[in-house]
Amino acid sequence: MDNRIKIIQGDITRQEVDAVVNAANTSLLGGGGVDGAIHRAAGPELLEETSQIGGCPTGESRSSRGYRLPAKWVIHTVGPVWLGGERNEDNLLASCYQTCFRLARELGVRSIAFPAISTGVYRFPLQRSAKIALLETKKELEKESPLEKIVFVCFSDVVLKTYQDSYGEIFRP
Ligand code: ADP
Repeated sequence: MDNRIKIIQGDITRQEVDAVVNAANTSLLGGGGVDGAIHRAAGPELLEETSQIGGCPTGESRSSRGYRLPAKWVIHTVGPVWLGGERNEDNLLASCYQTCFRLARELGVRSIAFPAISTGVYRFPLQRSAKIALLETKKELEKESPLEKIVFVCFSDVVLKTYQDSYGEIFRP
């Protein structure tokens, strides 16, 4: 058990945390799903800023301000498109979490919310993605992390149940 980790069902754009993570695409110019929701809630200033960044490769992350979101920062990460599992998808997804945590440290973030990166349009298998998310989080929290709260915001009850089950497996005492 680690009481810094919260698994909730909800909308990431409503989270009162220092940083929310966006499951972006390599252009960083907005898209559907959680990316669209974050851009709508943050307002047009977000696109003005992200369009100056010049894109982001898969498995890496970039930060911007949060504008009209309750969160001060948005960390945009580009998850892999699932292509069957033999195209380095697991490592690329792990790298998303690692690079988000690295940026969070640089920004002085103490609370962060993640969506289930790559599990929507990018079709990464949900259970497999939840394990990667929680294992990378466990590694981060074992390193004297400044993080006080990590929220996994599950958009549906299926995602919620999957995260709860994976949490039980990975953080079992
Ligand atoms: P990707 O392209 O990385 O697969 P998607 O946005 O299609 O990204 O989906 C990623 C996950 O985010 C999915 O589980 C989807 O249900 C979820 N999601 C969509 N909108 C929101 C939201 N407002 N808050 C939290 N999660 C969301």
